[in-house]
Amino acid sequence: MVKILLDYEKCDGADCGECADVCSMEVLVLEGDKIEIKCQEKCSSCEVCADVCPNDAIKLENS
Ligand code: SF4
Ligand code: SF4
Repeated sequence: MVKILLDYEKCDGADCGECADVCSMEVLVLEGDKIEIKCQEKCSSCEVCADVCPNDAIKLENS
């Protein structure tokens, strides 16, 4: 299973939200001004979230 590592120090939260917009599995969800990682087991490892992040804040790690 893949583990999603989100660096909140780099994340712009609600000012961005790109990763939540592109995550078709609804693993990444914008709640308030923060990206929450939901149901990590649903992640398809597509890496689209990491690709679109302008701040390089998302890493996927195989666990
Ligand atoms: S790798 Fe794909 S499915 Fe997993 S959190 Fe990112 S966008 Fe969503
Ligand atoms: S794409 Fe990157 S900067 Fe934008 S909300 Fe997601 S993690 Fe934060």
